[in-house]
Amino acid sequence: MRGYRCAKSIYLTIQRPDLEPPVGPDQQAVFDQGNMVGEVARGYYPGGVLVDNKPWDFGGSLKRTRELLKDGTEFIYEAAFEYKGCYARADILKYSKETKRWTLIEVKSGIKVKPEYLEDVGLQAWIIANGGIQLEKICILHLNPECRFPNLKNLFVEVDVTDQLRETYRDIAPRLNAIFTALRSQDIPDVDIGPQCSVNRDCEFKSFCFGQREIPEVSIFNIPRIGAKVWDFYKKGQLALSDIDTSGLNEQQKCMVDVHLNDQPFIDRGAIQSAMSEWKYPLVYLDFETINPPIPRYPGTGPYQQTPFQFSVHIQQEPGGPLEHKEFLHDTATDPRPSLIPALLEACAGQGTIVAYFATFEKKCITDLAEFSKAHRDELLALNERFADPLDIMRAAVYHPGFAGSYSLKAVAPALLGKQFSYDEMEVGDGGAAQRAFTELINETTSEPRRQELTRAMLDYCRQDTLAMVEAVNWLGRQATAAG
Ligand code: SF4
Repeated sequence: MRGYRCAKSIYLTIQRPDLEPPVGPDQQAVFDQGNMVGEVARGYYPGGVLVDNKPWDFGGSLKRTRELLKDGTEFIYEAAFEYKGCYARADILKYSKETKRWTLIEVKSGIKVKPEYLEDVGLQAWIIANGGIQLEKICILHLNPECRFPNLKNLFVEVDVTDQLRETYRDIAPRLNAIFTALRSQDIPDVDIGPQCSVNRDCEFKSFCFGQREIPEVSIFNIPRIGAKVWDFYKKGQLALSDIDTSGLNEQQKCMVDVHLNDQPFIDRGAIQSAMSEWKYPLVYLDFETINPPIPRYPGTGPYQQTPFQFSVHIQQEPGGPLEHKEFLHDTATDPRPSLIPALLEACAGQGTIVAYFATFEKKCITDLAEFSKAHRDELLALNERFADPLDIMRAAVYHPGFAGSYSLKAVAPALLGKQFSYDEMEVGDGGAAQRAFTELINETTSEPRRQELTRAMLDYCRQDTLAMVEAVNWLGRQATAAG
């Protein structure tokens, strides 16, 4: 698949693995999730035999697969095949005694068939079919967005993609030839960075390849929501913000470029004042931390549904007044919602404005909580009527050179408020780290000292989020006051 993306990527993978950064914790979590979904999927095709040779044991896996094929095993998991230097492991192979042919079932942890899945399974099927196996059907098995815990009977959807793939078979041999030609080359293939570097997800060699280009610290790649348009500038050799013609950019993007060129923040004090004039004290600053497992584990939830397990609330009765802090952290493997909901309602009681950065997320969580708890439904939905979002104000009325193109609180807070609002040194410093910490916290095998360490780090992180929000809003308030 890396070879499909770019000749340089496959070359570096094989010839220069030293240039590939180690797998980070977020990426590892994605791999782990994929493996877990794969293992669970096997349970839906029970009684099969796993080719359990290690991933690097090519010879052993191929030999074991040949034995199982010869025995007429009905389901084989992780069967290995090889053809002309290409090697593939099939998630699930199903044998039909009637037709004496096989069905290839490729497990994907997404919730729909994506184009890249077709490329992946198409190549696998090509290798398997050319390796001498008669395939009658090729299927993608993906998670079913309609499934709701605890009924996991319909956790997966099996989609027959045999006909869709037939059209792509013709292209596979030439694409593989190009890959093998790249691999044989003496030097790193001369491929320039381009849209291919970020298709579906970032290429593993992005930092290496981008590092080879002379890209200013803040460049066209930092323009907010620039999308594919960035490559039009790049092709013209315009990498610095000072190089570009901004006439095709939207107002926010133009503002960002102007601020960096003039090194002067943009602050629309009137707009801030008018946006905040609707806010009612006491202000209730709210932030959730959530978990969204691919395989649902709490009643009524579906794959990847966000379920809050932690919140932090800071309450301020009057402008510039002292802060009261309330927090909640669920620390067992049970459903967090029955204890979180009363604590949330108690923390947010009253009529003041609830302030959340990117409030859409918090509101969606509350809507889901209301769906879950009929007894608290009205009270929870009433919270959603009280939200205000400082992110909307930032986007419309503020840009500081320190944002470097990002309006996330992690960029905005240190830029406006100073380094003490940076998350860099925190043990739990982002939502992904909070999810991993929660997973470890609720694991029965985690020791008590480690649980205490995790609890402290998670509470610190969530509190920092609402505190940073308080200070960012105080900053906005000062601008509004200055507007008179
Ligand atoms: S970063 Fe881009 S150019 Fe470099 S290897 Fe990856 S896809 Fe190819």
